[in-house]
Amino acid sequence: MSDQPTTFDLASLPAELGASRALDVRLYLSPLHLAGQDYRFIPETVPAKLNVTFVGEGYTAKLEFSCRIEGACWRCLEPADLDLDVAAEDFFETKMPAVAELGQEDEASLWFMEDGILNLSEWALSAIAGLLPPQILCRDDCRGLCPQCGANLNLAECDCEPPLDERWGKLREWEASD
Ligand SMILES: [Zn+2]
Ligand SMILES: [Zn+2]
Repeated sequence: MSDQPTTFDLASLPAELGASRALDVRLYLSPLHLAGQDYRFIPETVPAKLNVTFVGEGYTAKLEFSCRIEGACWRCLEPADLDLDVAAEDFFETKMPAVAELGQEDEASLWFMEDGILNLSEWALSAIAGLLPPQILCRDDCRGLCPQCGANLNLAECDCEPPLDERWGKLREWEASD
């Protein structure tokens, strides 16, 4: 089904040094929850290229795809989208602890493989998280919402007085207590 994680069975590769496989896969990307907002991938299933090579103690794998993420602009909450080209490359050891035994200090790649099954969707989301800009904006110079009346300042100016700078407020407190 389309909303199931996309996986790859590494054991389907012959256990011969250098054995490798190049595959076209349909990669499912589940929605992301960022800064209290939901971000969806449009479409949620994208074509991806997977290259896997058996190197003795494990597998090197490379996953490449492009995707578009849609959700609310962090400043004005209007729709925003972002196109990403992703290329993830990692090494997956054959002998890996079970995911249930992992702790926070364990390497990221350990989390994407269980019983020889590589979870491509989880791996892809982790790679995407590393590529996201600090803010997802409708446009680079989005002016956001007025903190006082909530007006979308991209559409019109409002009549609110600009808020006093906090540092000035502190200085006034200090002066008053002197
Ligand atoms: Zn915006
Ligand atoms: Zn205002």
